[in-house]
Amino acid sequence: MREFYDEGSRVAVQTTQPLDRMLTYRAPEGGCWQGAFVEVPLGPRKVMGVVWGPGETGFDASKLRAVIRVLDVPPMRGEMAEFLARVGDYTLTPMNHMLRLATRAPGLTNPPSMRKIYRMGHGDPGRMTEARGRVLDTLEEHGDLAFTLGELAELSGVTSSVVKGLVKTGAVREEESPRDLPFPHLDWEAPGKDLSDDQARAADMLRAGIESGEYGATLLRGVTGSGKTEAYLEAVAACLAKGRQALVLLPEIALTSEFIKRVEVRFGARPAEWHSGVTMTERRRVWRMVGEGGAQLVVGARSALFLPFRDIGLIVVDEEHDSSYKQDDGVLYSARDMAVLRASINSAQVVLASATPSLETWANAEAGKYARVDLTTRFGQAVLPEMRAVDMREEDLPGDRWISPTLKRAVEGRIEAGEQALIFLNRRGYAPVTICRACGHQIGCDHCDARMVEHRFLKRLVCHQCGETKPMPDACPSCEAEGRLAPVGPGVERLAEEVAEVFPEARVAVLSSDLFGSARALKQQIELIAGGGADIIIGTQIVAKGHNFPLLTLVGVIDADLGLQGSDLRAAERTFQLIRQVAGRAGRGEISGLALLQTFQPEHPVIRAILSGDEEGFWKAEASERQAAGVPPYGRLAGVVISSPDLDAAMGLGTALARGDAPLRDIGAQLFGPAMAPIARVRGRHRVRLLVKAAKTAPLQAALRAWLSQVEVKGDMRLSVDIDPQSF
Ligand code: ADP
Ligand code: ZN
Repeated sequence: MREFYDEGSRVAVQTTQPLDRMLTYRAPEGGCWQGAFVEVPLGPRKVMGVVWGPGETGFDASKLRAVIRVLDVPPMRGEMAEFLARVGDYTLTPMNHMLRLATRAPGLTNPPSMRKIYRMGHGDPGRMTEARGRVLDTLEEHGDLAFTLGELAELSGVTSSVVKGLVKTGAVREEESPRDLPFPHLDWEAPGKDLSDDQARAADMLRAGIESGEYGATLLRGVTGSGKTEAYLEAVAACLAKGRQALVLLPEIALTSEFIKRVEVRFGARPAEWHSGVTMTERRRVWRMVGEGGAQLVVGARSALFLPFRDIGLIVVDEEHDSSYKQDDGVLYSARDMAVLRASINSAQVVLASATPSLETWANAEAGKYARVDLTTRFGQAVLPEMRAVDMREEDLPGDRWISPTLKRAVEGRIEAGEQALIFLNRRGYAPVTICRACGHQIGCDHCDARMVEHRFLKRLVCHQCGETKPMPDACPSCEAEGRLAPVGPGVERLAEEVAEVFPEARVAVLSSDLFGSARALKQQIELIAGGGADIIIGTQIVAKGHNFPLLTLVGVIDADLGLQGSDLRAAERTFQLIRQVAGRAGRGEISGLALLQTFQPEHPVIRAILSGDEEGFWKAEASERQAAGVPPYGRLAGVVISSPDLDAAMGLGTALARGDAPLRDIGAQLFGPAMAPIARVRGRHRVRLLVKAAKTAPLQAALRAWLSQVEVKGDMRLSVDIDPQSF
C-alpha cells in the first residue's frame, strides 16, 4: 500500500556529497504520495528527491522547509525502493548515491514539452556531400530513434544547417513530438525458429519459470553458437505474453545492434535500448516508458537494472561471466548479482547465460540455488573447434617475433582455402614496455606507478591506468642518450607489423577497443570482418565477446600463458574463460575450426583443462581450491582502498583501521594490510589497501560499517569499499 502524507515526509535526496540519512520536509500543498519524485530545497540549491516515508516526529512542522513541487514522472515503486535500499546496504553506499543510479535520465525535473524531433525520411537527399552522408548514416544506424536537432548534428559531426538542408529535401523528417512516445509493440505471438530438442527443453524450462509468476534463477549453459539466444528469446516471448516486461543485459555495446536486429526479426519491432551510446532524448524516453509500461523489452548495459520497470518478469544476463558486469567506479556493484536480487524482489525470473559460467554461478547451480540447463552441441552443422597447444619451447623463433612456424603454416592454409584466421593477443598498443638500451630506464607514467605503453597508431605513449599520454621522446628521459629507446614485448599493433611481414598478401583487420573513436567505427570494422573483408583478424579481448564471424575457422592465441601470471585468485578462471571464448570464435559456420594455443607451459593445469575441454573437471578443481582457501564463492572478501596525494596520510589511516579491527574480529573475520595496492599510485594518488576475509555466513556489512565508522576520512583522502572485489 502506498501511503499518503500531508504533513512531514522523509525525503531521500540526490546529492553528490555522501549523505547517509533522509531529510524531513513539510509536505507540499495538497500532500504527496510515498515514492513521489519531488524537488526540495537543500541549502541554497534545489535538488531532486524521493518521498520515502513519514517525517520524523519531534519537529515543529511549521519550521520545516517545504517540498517545492511534485515532479510529473511515475512515482518510485515499492520494489524499486527496496532494491535500492538493499543494493545500498550490500555495497555500503549511501542512499543519495543510489538515487543517482536510479535517476540517470536527463530532464526529469522538466515536464515533457513540445519539441521538434528528427528521424529518417523517404525523400531524395539531393546533392550528396560527405556531411549529408554522415547524418543519414547516423539515422540509419539508430533505426527508429528520434533525435533533437542538436543531438543529431553532434552525433554526425556536422552543423545543424546540414540537418536542416536534409529536412528541405525530405530525406530527414522533422516532427512535433508532444511527449515521449511509447515503443512499438513487440509481437510475442510471432513464431520463433524451429528449435532443436536441446533448445526446446531449455525453452520449456524457462517458460515454466515465467508461468509460475515467481522468482527463480536459471543457469543457461551452452557453448558459443549452441543457440542460447534463441532459447531465451522464447522466455522473453512468454514474459511479454503475460503482460510483464523483460530486460536483456549484454556486456558490450558493440553487441547490441546485432542483438536488436534479432529481436526485430523475432518480434517485428525494435526494443528499447539503454547504454552510454544512447542519446539524452532517447534515454529520457526510455526511462519514462519503462516506468509507464510503454516499453516491453529493454536491451542494455548493466545500469539498465536501475530503470523503473513497471512490472519486470524476466532479466537475462547474457555472457554472465563477463567481468564488465562489475561496475568499477562509483557504486561498486556486480550487475549479475544485483540482477538476481532484483528478480527476487520482483518475483521475476533471472536467466544467466554463458558458455563459460563464473565459478560463483556454477557453484550456485551445484548447490541447487539455481536451476541449470545445458545446450550440449552447437546448433546445426557447426562443431566446436579442436584445441591444440603449440609448445613454444620447441618452436624456432627469435626473441622479438611471436608468430610460431606452426601457427604460420596453419594461417597460410586457411587463407588459401578462402577462410579467416584470428590471431589473439590480449594487449593493446604497440609494446607494453619502452626501455632505454643505454641505461635500462623504463618509461613510466608521471602520475601512476605504471609503465607507459607505446601506441604507434596514436604516435604516443599512453598510461593504461590514468589515460595520460605523451609523445615518444627522442632521448631517454633518464640518461638523455639519443635514439636508444626500444620497445620490449608485443602489443597488437606490433603484432600487426609482424603479420604484415609474414603474410604480405593478406588483408589484415585489427580489432582493439582503443583503435576506434566511436562505437560506430568499431561496428563497421566488425561488419567488414563478418562480410569476409579480411583474411587475418588481429584482436584483443573485444573479439572474445559474442561476435559471429562465419568465415573464421582458425584462432591462434599468441600468449596463452599471459593471464596466468600474478597472484590473482581468479587468474585461472579468467584465463580459462577468455581462451575458451576466443577459441569459440572459430568454426561457427559450416567448416570446423581449430584453435592453436602458443604456450611455454603446456603442462599447466589450466592450459590442460582448456585443451581437454573438461569444464566440469576444471570447475570442480577450482572450486575445491577456493573452498580450501575460504575465498569466494565459499567465503567473503571486501577490499578497502584508501587513496591520497599524501602517502603517509593514507598509510596512517590504514594503520588506524588495522588497530581498530575489533568489530572484524568479533565476526571471526581476518584483516590483511594495510599494504600498498598492486598499482601503488594512480593519477598522483597513493593507494593503500586492506583486505577483509570472512566466512560465507558472517554479517560482513554490519561489521564493516562498525569498523569504518571509527575513522574519519578527511580532506583529500578517499576511502572506497569493494564488496566481492573482482581481483584480489
Ligand atoms: P548462442 O547465443 O548460444 O551463441 P545463438 O542463439 O546466437 O547461439 O545461435 C547461433 C546461431 O545459430 C545463430 O546464427 C542463430 O540464428 C542460429 N540458430 C540457433 N538456433 C536456431 C534454430 N533453432 N533454427 C535456426 N537457426 C538457429
Ligand atoms: Zn598514469
